[in-house]
Amino acid sequence: MLVMKFGGTSVGSADRIKVACGLIAKSAAERPVVAVVSAMSKITDLLLETTRQAEGGDQAGVDRNLITLETRHQDAADGLGVSVYPQIAELVGEFRRIVNGILMLGHRPPRAIDEAVAIGERLSALLIAASLQKSGFKAEAVNAAEVIVTDAVFNSASPLMPATETKSCARLMPLVNAGITPIVTGFNGATADGRPTTLGRGGSDFSASIIASALNASELWIWTDVDGIMTADPRLVTDAKVLTEITYSEAAELAYAGAKVLHPRTLAPLVEKRIPVWSKNSFAPEKPGTRIVPELSADNSGARAVTSMANVALVSVEPASGIHIIGRALDALDAANVEVLALTSSSYRQSFCFLVRLEELDTATQAVESALAIELAHGYVRPIEIDRNVGLLAVVGEGMRGFSGMAGRIFTAISREKINIIAIAQGSSELTISIVVRRDGLDKAVRAVHTECHL
Ligand code: ASP
Ligand code: MG
Repeated sequence: MLVMKFGGTSVGSADRIKVACGLIAKSAAERPVVAVVSAMSKITDLLLETTRQAEGGDQAGVDRNLITLETRHQDAADGLGVSVYPQIAELVGEFRRIVNGILMLGHRPPRAIDEAVAIGERLSALLIAASLQKSGFKAEAVNAAEVIVTDAVFNSASPLMPATETKSCARLMPLVNAGITPIVTGFNGATADGRPTTLGRGGSDFSASIIASALNASELWIWTDVDGIMTADPRLVTDAKVLTEITYSEAAELAYAGAKVLHPRTLAPLVEKRIPVWSKNSFAPEKPGTRIVPELSADNSGARAVTSMANVALVSVEPASGIHIIGRALDALDAANVEVLALTSSSYRQSFCFLVRLEELDTATQAVESALAIELAHGYVRPIEIDRNVGLLAVVGEGMRGFSGMAGRIFTAISREKINIIAIAQGSSELTISIVVRRDGLDKAVRAVHTECHL
């Protein structure tokens, strides 16, 4: 069995949907296929914006967005020559009802948001299934709320795998066995008692890997709009190359450190079953793409790729004397669901700093400040310092392990460009070297490292 996932740009218009359907049909002629689809590009943003407008009481804005939502999908339906107006209107009506509730409350409960935003994927799954059916192909749109069972962490849920295995087999295998290709919504799921959840922004990749693992698929293909996983962002590095093969660990590290090709949580469900993944370009399907595997077939020493993140901030905490607070600070960050991208600590005084995404900065600062409120009030901890003018660069490669001189060469390459290194982190796995530099030197540092490591 093959699980195929299509991202937002790969289903962003009638023309793109036709291409996606062609790819599904071609593979499904050879073996059983389950497709997992994102919402049409920009639709999730539109839905989220609408819930915010509703919260702020902006009725006119809500009305405008509802029209955009309906027109965009109806235009696509027209372009595909499928008549699904009643179903589109029904789904848009479902979204309108949730938004009206938010308007009335003046508040957006996370649970309502999850139910609302999943409508984007339900609309795209509807169009894709209809388009396949029109060309005489057996397909059925399936809401992943009936397939993926998650915890109740709304907006960022995690799958409960045993329950998900049971549900996905029960819902999807009868279709597959009857020769019908399920077109499953990406991004969403539901708790065991049926409350709708989502897996976090960009979570459709994760949906696909959850389903691939639950169904014991033999491969997962992720269709995007780039040729595969590259040695660097081609917008920053003109001679960046597509990697033919990369390990799960390397791909996960790259995704985590800002490479946009894969959602960082995608690979975890596949590791145990060793299900290989292909990252492929639906705009150039003839290109091989990148294969993500448990181990590399060829020997690869040194670094494999460099990536960067600009929208980050560095938070520094400095105790006045040798008191130990790192553990409590990290617990507080964890409880607040903040992702720490890098952490370094040093010196007798146990000062430490950590890097977070800009959008999580306020939550992070509040969490640490309230965990250390007493120490801060008494001056045992200096006021927390925040530096927004930084960027993260990460060099990734399993082949860096035990390969001496890597860090030295990387640092030298960066300092040769007169870029000051603010913080450094390397785990003992030696898989990633994370370097925090001034924001204005970030792009240059990426280029310097890419050249130095012969990527
Ligand atoms: N449509 C969702 C988003 O934009 C999920 C996804 O595309 O993966 O975040
Ligand atoms: Mg997406």
